[in-house]
Amino acid sequence: MAKPDLHIDLDAVIANWRALDRMSSAAVETGAVVKADAYGLGAGQVARALAGAGVRNFFTATADEGAELRRALGPGPTISVFAGHMAGDAEAIGGAQLVPMLNSLDQLTLHFEALPGAPFGIQLDTGMNRLGLEAAEWEAAAGIVLEAGPTLLMSHLACSDEPQHPMNIFQCEEFMRLTEDTGVPRSLSATGGILLGPEFHFELVRPGIGLHGCAPFDQGRKPLRLSLPVIQIREIHAGETVGYSNTFIAESSMLVATVSAGYADGLLRSLSGRAHLWQGLVPCPILGRVSMDLITVDVTHLADTPTHLDMLGEKQSADDLAAVAGTIGYEILTGLSPRYRRVYHGGAA
Ligand SMILES: *Cc1c(COP(=O)(O)O)cnc(C)c1O
Repeated sequence: MAKPDLHIDLDAVIANWRALDRMSSAAVETGAVVKADAYGLGAGQVARALAGAGVRNFFTATADEGAELRRALGPGPTISVFAGHMAGDAEAIGGAQLVPMLNSLDQLTLHFEALPGAPFGIQLDTGMNRLGLEAAEWEAAAGIVLEAGPTLLMSHLACSDEPQHPMNIFQCEEFMRLTEDTGVPRSLSATGGILLGPEFHFELVRPGIGLHGCAPFDQGRKPLRLSLPVIQIREIHAGETVGYSNTFIAESSMLVATVSAGYADGLLRSLSGRAHLWQGLVPCPILGRVSMDLITVDVTHLADTPTHLDMLGEKQSADDLAAVAGTIGYEILTGLSPRYRRVYHGGAA
């Protein structure tokens, strides 16, 4: 059966990484966050392309993701894990030579006992109250921890997509206070923080969403084209309805195409009756409700019978879809269905 094709331009991802890398000074290292299967694009393929372009530091959310990434990348690049060292992770961390970003005193104990001498980093909470040692815990443990030689001290900004938000400066100053004079490389900024300017860069920055040209780095290149196969086309007449709950009623004769993908594939139900699919540069409105595996589209005005229609592409980015659906590009990307056939272009080392 014809599957939806998700075309992924790895050269665009590499170009975005290079553009982000150029935003900090040459002394600042630029890593790449490839958690959640590289935001749905495919962690192995994306990370191999980036490693070929010179990326040496990768980040995943969990140790399992890190172990899978190690299989794709082989030895060499550093793979750090935001979740740190959780119970049951020792084999994955030790076996795949991952660097857990330890988040609590319990994790420190677990890591030092399970894998003595193995590399680790430290995640500090500077106000987001999500992950990391709190200031008082860090102040109590810093002596012993620094003795053991962490590879990285990191924290994460809560409001970096709002450049004027006072939380940015607050967290940056708190991070400086907690880490000054340690001599250990530091990292505070994801994509949003890179755009805030040099005082937020420290020794390493770690973009994720920006690699895919989504906000807050929406000036980046768009690597995705999602092409949905048309299963069936029918003619309907004035007064006939389309889809669940009869939310669309035809006012005149029209041609309706049914394409193969739906909300089970991450194409949110809130796109119903609001978004468009595209034949090249020509928009085709979605008619009625998005259903689980199918979407119905007005193709009356097209010059030729479509075999495929694009949901993502030149005329509609993940951010565009997110705006219609009332969400953010991150959620559109990480919702990209495992049912799509991922077709990679470019990226040769
Ligand atoms: C997801 C994540 C990143 C990457 O963030 P983007 O906004 O996608 O660039 C960086 N650091 C941490 C801790 C994260 O959880």
